[in-house]
Amino acid sequence: MGLLDGRRGLIFGIANERSIAWHIARGAAEQGAACAFAHLPGEKMERRVRKALEDGGFSDPWMRSCDLASDEDLDRLFDAAAADFEAIDFVVHSVAYADREYLRPGAFVDTPRGVFAQALDISSYSLVAVAMRARHLMRNGGSILALSYYGAEKAMPGYNVMGVAKSALESCVRYLALDLGPARIRVNALSAGPCRTLSAMAVGGFERILALMEETAPLRRNIETNEVGKSAVYLLSDLSSGVTGETHHVDAGYHSIAS
Ligand code: NAD
Repeated sequence: MGLLDGRRGLIFGIANERSIAWHIARGAAEQGAACAFAHLPGEKMERRVRKALEDGGFSDPWMRSCDLASDEDLDRLFDAAAADFEAIDFVVHSVAYADREYLRPGAFVDTPRGVFAQALDISSYSLVAVAMRARHLMRNGGSILALSYYGAEKAMPGYNVMGVAKSALESCVRYLALDLGPARIRVNALSAGPCRTLSAMAVGGFERILALMEETAPLRRNIETNEVGKSAVYLLSDLSSGVTGETHHVDAGYHSIAS
């Protein structure tokens, strides 16, 4: 028997088979969940995501495009989900974006207004935009999960405006948890250690961050992306039925030490 038998989830953020969202989808499906997917628009992206899903064992997946910066796209996506599904039980928000030109050590002070606003819109506000629509489909309660990083808590060279966006995201998690708790919808974040994904490669000094983790984290290693998938299953399932408004670290303990 799986921990997510009979549950349906909507997953945002698969770009390829390295994506954290791909590992979460695999973890959820292994526990019996039915997964639907939303990806960034574009033919090339659609082909890439379809291939990654097929390689992950998802044959003929429910997939729709959705730019999280667009309310029209979001409305269209949730209308399609409402037409096809009676209810959804969980949502995974595994999406972030900031102009990589400003993700270099020393470049935060030069962040222009537009770059700041776009990073916060796509990486933080979009969780609110998703939750306000998803709640109407979460008829039996449910779980919403976002992905964060330690750069939300401490200034890390190169993470810059994305760190500010992750701080806002973690705060959004707490406020959404407060508003949606009466509807039995839990909202949490996983703060993952560095994983080699497309987005991570945009962060200047990423290799240094990986090396530092391995040297200093209590477990003396980096995490495997599938470890984020396993912890996600806990937060998406009834195993965490009493947990909401939480940011849970999956980072080999790095956040707990002074370095
Ligand atoms: P990824 O590049 O595989 O995934 C990021 C996803 O965001 C992609 O699928 C991309 O298409 C999507 N996206 C970007 N802009 C979008 C938009 N406007 N609308 C819809 N989708 C959009 O990288 P990832 O590392 O798997 O990132 C997933 C999440 O995990 C992000 O929130 C990231 O900040 C977070 N995270 C990553 C790491 C890491 O080291 N990789 C660590 C902690 C947290």
